[in-house]
Order: sequence, then structure tokens, then C-alpha cells
Amino acid sequence: MVMEKVFHFDSPREVYRADACVITCFDARFDLAVRKFLKRRGVATFDQVKIPGGVKPLAAPECDADRDFVLRMVRTSMRLHGSERVLIVAHRECGAYADAPIEVVTADAVRAAEFLRASEPRLAVECYFADFDGIYGIG
Ligand SMILES: [Zn+2]
Repeated sequence: MVMEKVFHFDSPREVYRADACVITCFDARFDLAVRKFLKRRGVATFDQVKIPGGVKPLAAPECDADRDFVLRMVRTSMRLHGSERVLIVAHRECGAYADAPIEVVTADAVRAAEFLRASEPRLAVECYFADFDGIYGIG
């Protein structure tokens, strides 16, 4: 096997401590809003778990393996980067929810948060909803 350098960039070597683990959908339309929002909330360094449908595998998994896989990602963030906080960001027009009403999406976010709190009681879990005009807290 041959490995050839195709791009030069100096990345930091220090292992970091994550301010949070952030779970979002991979819908790129909300990337900038989420990043700016996180900065505003004091989350500068974070582990982002990006999954189509966001926390749907935690709240309404197609199979248990999906739920376990996402939970493992969160636990890995805790173990490797000391994450003690999880921010869940659901969003408008999520392809994973087709034409489901917004209440279904936000209810899943709340259910996912409850699942994470039950699985890892020391985690602080927050729920948000990204719309085209900003980010809303789900309480
Ligand atoms: Zn989505």
C-alpha cells in the first residue's frame, strides 16, 4: 500500500475536552445556525454526532442496534473527551420525518433526551429545534 500526501494542513495534536456532545441531523442547511448558536451557548469545542434524522434512532429506532450505536457514540464522547453535556438539535423539514407534524419531531427529541438521561444520569441533556429563522428551546 502506498500513501501519498495530497494536502497540507497543520491540525492540533492536543487531545481536547469537549464542551458538549451535539447530536444533529446531517441536513447541512442548519450547519451555520447550529454552529453560531453553540458558540453563543458557550460550546466552542464539541463532538458532533451527525445522523440523518438526528435523534430519531434514540427515540424511535428502526432496530435496537441503531439506538445502541448512537448511545455508544455519546458514551465515547464522554470517555475520550469528557463530555458532560449533550445538546440535541432537531429541525424543520427533516427528511427522516417526511410530512410528520412538528409535534412528532419535538416529542422524539424529548424522548431521546429522556433515554439519554436514563442511560447516563450524570449527563446534562438539552433539546432544541432548528427552524429556518433560528433555534428554539424545547422544554
Ligand atoms: Zn433531517
